[in-house]
Amino acid sequence: MAGDDRRILCLGCGAVNRVPPEKTLRHAKCGRCAKGLATPEPVDITSEQLAALKSRDTGAFLLDIWASWCGPCRMMAPHYHAAAGRLAEEVRFFKLDSDQNQDAAASLQIRGVPTLMGWKGGRLVANQPGAQTGPALDAWIRNSFNLA
Ligand SMILES: [Zn+2]
Repeated sequence: MAGDDRRILCLGCGAVNRVPPEKTLRHAKCGRCAKGLATPEPVDITSEQLAALKSRDTGAFLLDIWASWCGPCRMMAPHYHAAAGRLAEEVRFFKLDSDQNQDAAASLQIRGVPTLMGWKGGRLVANQPGAQTGPALDAWIRNSFNLA
């Protein structure tokens, strides 16, 4: 059913790709520029890219809103990185520097860093302040996105 396709935005060229629900993202490539659509390593994005994702993308993606001066952010970073590798088939992992993208951080109404926010189907499905690590982080992600 074409209606169930996910619309996955390519951050390389801005094209929106339709990906059938049964196809994992791990080997999916952009139809226009051939860039991989999955994020086996977290990708830094800007306010503009976040706005495009929120308005045009219906896949599952997670955002770590962080700051370079934030100790808990640095503590969580390797765990977030590891989770991206494990869950790359289903969820994309992005990072937003709250100091360099203050407009986005303000519009998201975050109360502190780090904050994890998730979107799926064009809707915000998860919003969690505070650092999460290890198995608890994976469990939270799976629960947030209804993964098996
Ligand atoms: Zn592309």
